[in-house]
Amino acid sequence: MDDLQDLYQSILLEHNKRPRHKGSLPPPVLHAEGNNPMCGDEVEVFVRLEAGRIAQVSFDGQGCAISQASASMMTEALVGKTPEEAHALWQQLQQLLTDKHAQPSPEDLVQLGDLAALSGVKQFPARIKCATLAWHALEAALAAEPSVSTEQPG
Ligand code: ZN
Repeated sequence: MDDLQDLYQSILLEHNKRPRHKGSLPPPVLHAEGNNPMCGDEVEVFVRLEAGRIAQVSFDGQGCAISQASASMMTEALVGKTPEEAHALWQQLQQLLTDKHAQPSPEDLVQLGDLAALSGVKQFPARIKCATLAWHALEAALAAEPSVSTEQPG
């Protein structure tokens, strides 16, 4: 189990160091932001839907390694998914983070991919908000009206 935790930690640190899909997307996009004042994390999420699927997704922000790595892993996991599939993945992740006795099946782990690396966070309840911040912003973005604002290009 320690080996697995080491692996998870290195996946997390790697995403923090080389975040995927970082930066804003040009409008029109679905957009929302979230703050975690307890830790000082800020995450913005941008989603472009095409034919009912997430064609592009990105995040921007700053904060601790867990918040930024979680956002990076999230964007990677979401491309090509429908909003319903994204929501299902979020629920799977929430269970992994909050249910101390959850034993994800091999199928769950395949679904989660790198996100499984966040499972170690449940030992640190104060950090769960860091790991879920980007997902809360995603849920808000998917519920939002498309932004047609032209400010902040790029
Ligand atoms: Zn944090």
